Amino acid sequence: MSFLLHGIGVSAGIAIGRAQLVSHATLEVAHYQIRPEQVAAEIARFDAAVAQVTQELDTLWTQIQETDTASEVGAFIDVHAMLLRDEMLTQAPREIIAAELCNAEWALTQQMYRLVEQFEQIEDPYLRERKNDVIQVVERVLTVLLGKPGQVQIQHPEQRTILVAHDLSPADMIRYKKHAFAAFLTDLGGATSHTAIVAKSLNIPAVVALHNGRGLIREGEWLIVDGLRSVVIVNPDKPVLAEYRLKQEEFELERQKLKRLKTKRATTLDGQLVELHANIELPTDLRDVLDSGASGVGLFRSEFLFLNRQGLPSEDEQFEAYRSVAVGMAGRPVVVRTFDLGADKHMEGISAGLDRVAMNPALGLRAVRFCLSEPRLFVTQLRAILRASHYGKVKILIPMLCNVYELTQALQLIERAKESLRVEHTKFDDNIEVGGMIEIPAAALSIGAFAERLDFLSVGTNDLIQYTLAIDRADDAVAHLYDPLHPAVLRLLAMAIRGATKAGKPIAVCGEMAGEIAFTRILLGLGLREFSMHPNHLLEVKQRVLTSDVPPLEILANKMLKTDDPDRLASYVQRLRA
Ligand code: PEP
Ligand code: MG
Repeated sequence: MSFLLHGIGVSAGIAIGRAQLVSHATLEVAHYQIRPEQVAAEIARFDAAVAQVTQELDTLWTQIQETDTASEVGAFIDVHAMLLRDEMLTQAPREIIAAELCNAEWALTQQMYRLVEQFEQIEDPYLRERKNDVIQVVERVLTVLLGKPGQVQIQHPEQRTILVAHDLSPADMIRYKKHAFAAFLTDLGGATSHTAIVAKSLNIPAVVALHNGRGLIREGEWLIVDGLRSVVIVNPDKPVLAEYRLKQEEFELERQKLKRLKTKRATTLDGQLVELHANIELPTDLRDVLDSGASGVGLFRSEFLFLNRQGLPSEDEQFEAYRSVAVGMAGRPVVVRTFDLGADKHMEGISAGLDRVAMNPALGLRAVRFCLSEPRLFVTQLRAILRASHYGKVKILIPMLCNVYELTQALQLIERAKESLRVEHTKFDDNIEVGGMIEIPAAALSIGAFAERLDFLSVGTNDLIQYTLAIDRADDAVAHLYDPLHPAVLRLLAMAIRGATKAGKPIAVCGEMAGEIAFTRILLGLGLREFSMHPNHLLEVKQRVLTSDVPPLEILANKMLKTDDPDRLASYVQRLRA
């Protein structure tokens, strides 16, 4: 039976392929059938994994006895070991394997979900939280079963595969860069969640916030994913398939046509030059940047170097990453944002307070707050960026600034990093520019103080909108409230752009808004002349810039900012978009 699912399209384009279901945010588990004669071997494989994790926990317990965190961690390990002896985890999955003829990973994950559900019913908050121990211990067993964490096997290599998950973390997404999937679908997430942002960088369609897609779609079913219209068609019939194949071709053709604009300067009809920069997560994204004809890298989300690994990347490793981008961009600017870890981006094995469970991680120890609480880690990164500045036009960008004291501290640490390099006679650009991200309303409202102390500014609209409208950008339940055109957002944006311009400091927008043609003319009207976006959107935005006449846009934008009447606002917006 054919049916339609609606979500939020985060990456345009059309994909047609077969569904592959994955089961968990951090350890994606494929579901496959086994034959009856394979059951015994599958159960043995499961038992061996449980035995290995029990052994690992024993070893861990012995190791930590000498450390000062012994009692806390020891208690933790005890709970995990106890759970691993319980029949609910050791026996039930065996029964599921035999009854459902499925792989061990799948059986274990199904049992985990059942247990988690039971724990969620418990009144006592302490006991309720034990569900996290169940998840963690299951993850340990899955890690062993899968051989390596995060491995996902393409189940239908002969066909185009569409990954269907309840949720995917940004780290999962980065892993998928290596695989050739045709599209991604998730039940959770919002348009500006980091998962969505990375999906874009994979250059394939994705739809998030499907709510119950993972429960409704079955393994191997045919799907059409329309990222532009935010829909998924499950089991399409022949005429619909034919229609979408045609649409797919048209979309590709349009994309090809835009390539002609690659080397053209982005100048408005009234002759104003607009800088169009690219956002990247990893040095491997450089090829897309060069293909897009971007005039620089406006945002290198350096924290992605930290994901999917145990331990911190060394200074040399980081230096190599920054240097390769600087060299690749051949003198064009490369803005390296210092780590924005925390909130939805976590690193395995990092101590530093990030592994504690914050009630509101988006409001917690994140980005510059985290870096200032871990000065050694921060200075290591700053040294790596400074060293790379010798090889190109590298700039430093500090995320999530809230007050000038944070900025003062960050500038002191930059000075400390510089001094340590001077002592070693290591070359770097002593005049390296330092910029700050305006992503907290408080920073936009006090833009003057930041503009005075910084060389440039960059507005992170994804976070600015999240914090202004009090909506968690990764939470699909409030995704409908995400509104870049809320008058409060527009006024804060105008305030930041005008404040920086008045102080004579360049300002960019590097949030998702910068890459959406629906907002290009509004931003131009607000005075923006620098945009940084995913490279896939750059040529489309350039086409928009080339056909825009700024003076009338400025008049309309001024009117738009002044009105409190929603209908009038809508009408100005419509005229600005035309
Ligand atoms: C933003 O917040 O708009 C931004 C560009 O940074 P990130 O999306 O990585 O938080
Ligand atoms: Mg941000």
